Amino acid sequence: MDGGPGILCSRASYTENLGCPVTLRAARGGGRGVFDHLSAGRWWDRGLQLVDGCAPVTAGCAHCWAATLARRFPRSRMYVDPRASTWTGRVTFNRTALDRPMRCRRPQAWALWNDLCHPGVTDSDFLATWQMMTRSPRHVFILLTKRPERLEALHRRYCLVWPGHIWPGTSISTQRDADRNLPFLAGIPSAVKVISYEPALGPWQAGSSCLGLVLGHGLPWIIAGGETGGGARPADPEWFRHVRDSCIALGLPFFFKGWGSWAPVASADLSDRVLAQLATCEHPSGAVSYRVGNRKFRSLDGRKWDQCPASPGRAEDF
Ligand code: SF4
Repeated sequence: MDGGPGILCSRASYTENLGCPVTLRAARGGGRGVFDHLSAGRWWDRGLQLVDGCAPVTAGCAHCWAATLARRFPRSRMYVDPRASTWTGRVTFNRTALDRPMRCRRPQAWALWNDLCHPGVTDSDFLATWQMMTRSPRHVFILLTKRPERLEALHRRYCLVWPGHIWPGTSISTQRDADRNLPFLAGIPSAVKVISYEPALGPWQAGSSCLGLVLGHGLPWIIAGGETGGGARPADPEWFRHVRDSCIALGLPFFFKGWGSWAPVASADLSDRVLAQLATCEHPSGAVSYRVGNRKFRSLDGRKWDQCPASPGRAEDF
C-alpha cells in the first residue's frame, strides 16, 4: 500500500512515453517552499482570488464554500444574496490582486479556484492572468475550474503554450462530471493536470478516465475528499479506495484531503461514548460513516496520502 517507491518506479515508464520530465515527491513540512501544507490537508500554499461572484454548475456546487464565505461576510464583494442564499449573478475580475504572486519572493503553490473560466470573466482578464503566471515561474499555479470547456477553448483560441509550472485542473463529483469535463482537460497539453474529486458525491471509475489523460498528454494528479459543512453529503469509503487503487495501478500521485463531515471512524479515533451520539449513514458497500462535523480525519486505511507531482525544473525548490 505504500505509494512512494512503487509510484516512482511506475512514473518512469509513463513519463518516458510522454517525454514529460515530471517527478513525484513526497510531502514535507517546514513552511519554506512549494506544497508545504500537504500534511495539513492543503494541496495549495496560497489562494489567489481574482474573481468575485459565481454561479452553480453541478451538484458539487450545492454547498459552495465561496458562497458560504460570502454569506458570512455580506459586505464582501462576493455577490451573494443573503436572503436567497444564492449568487446574485454578478461577477467581477479583481485586477488589483494580480500582482500578489509577483510580489511574493518565496516559491508557492497558488490555487486559482474562483472560477477564472466563468463566462463573466473576459478573455482579456484571462490573458492578463496568463501573462502574470508565465512571468512568475518560481511559483506553481493551479487553475481549477468547473468549466474546462472554456479553458480548452481559450487554449485553442490563443495557442497557449503551457509552461511546466501552470497546472490546469477541473473539479468533479461524479462519473457524469468526469465524463463531461475530462475530455476538455485532455485537450490541454500541460505537463500536469489536476483532477479534484471533491466533494465526492458518487463513484468514479478513475482508472479508465486517468488512463485517457495519460495517453493524451500529461500527468494527472488526483485530489480526493468528502464534503464539509452544514448539509454535507456522505461519501462511500469504497469510492475513495477505488480511486486510490487506480492511482497506485497507474503510478499516479494521489492526495487524500480528508473525509469531510462524514467519516468511517472507529473507537480508535473517537470514544464509544462519543460515537454513540453521532448520526450514522450506512452505505451500499456496507461501510458506515459517522457525522463527525468539524473533526478532521485524513487517514484512508491507516495512512495518509499526501503525494503530489513536482514540475519540470522545480526540483531544486523541493
Ligand atoms: S463553480 Fe466553484 S465557486 Fe462557482 S458555484 Fe460552483 S463551487 Fe462555487
